[in-house]
Amino acid sequence: MVGNSQHVSQSILFLGSGGARFVVARQIRASGGMWMRYGRTQIHVDPGPGALVRALSEIPACVPGELDALILSHKHLDHSNDINIMIEAMTYGGFRKRGALLAPADALRGEGVVLPYAQRFVERIEELKPSSGPYTVGEVEIYTSCAHMHSVQTYGLHFKHQARTVSYLPCGRFFNEMIGDYGAHRPDVLIMNVLRYRDAMDVDHLTLDDATHLIEGVRPKVAVFQHFGTKMLEQDPPKLARKLEDRLGLRVLAARDGMLLDIDTEVAAVAG
Ligand SMILES: [Zn+2]
Ligand SMILES: [Zn+2]
Repeated sequence: MVGNSQHVSQSILFLGSGGARFVVARQIRASGGMWMRYGRTQIHVDPGPGALVRALSEIPACVPGELDALILSHKHLDHSNDINIMIEAMTYGGFRKRGALLAPADALRGEGVVLPYAQRFVERIEELKPSSGPYTVGEVEIYTSCAHMHSVQTYGLHFKHQARTVSYLPCGRFFNEMIGDYGAHRPDVLIMNVLRYRDAMDVDHLTLDDATHLIEGVRPKVAVFQHFGTKMLEQDPPKLARKLEDRLGLRVLAARDGMLLDIDTEVAAVAG
């Protein structure tokens, strides 16, 4: 056997854990998105500012030329800033037409963020629609959530691979139907963008209480918080995660920049 003891069959590398303009503009936390590996399939989700630099700085480096797809949950810059350069890197400067690009229509057209010339470099473009799928990428089947309440087209993503589901709940205001919508996919892992600690300004983002509500309703085996704004960071996300873990009796993690989530290990630990 060609042994690679480091081989992880399903994993998520957090190339950033920050969110919101302030945290991202000052890079208090990085904002490179998530590099997902499902077997041999590699997908980069939400390549925000610094995504390419972060990907290449990892040891071992993430190789854009090996990506099967780039996905945007929505077009806001903290999720999409590096999409054009990532497309160039994935397609060897546009010389090798390869890879897929999945994004909401408003990220691709009109005041979209993916430049028309870069769109021509990829092999396939899928415009994400609410509650749809599967969109197939390599060995992975991807389904979208219902439309989020956010100022631009925003969809959650469910990644299904080998009887396991990883769900990503991106930015948006909490509403009750989210619980049933995400719960229906029975995620093993639920990654949530918890930007705010408490809602002081009534914005289209989850607070910690909203996230708690969602976890209680969806009951994933493992919940991961990320995309932290200033107030969340002040509250020490790992501490908040530990408290919730004790209260709810399931695994809750707070993402760090560069954190590698080995899904097999995390889910197995809970199941055992
Ligand atoms: Zn946003
Ligand atoms: Zn965001």
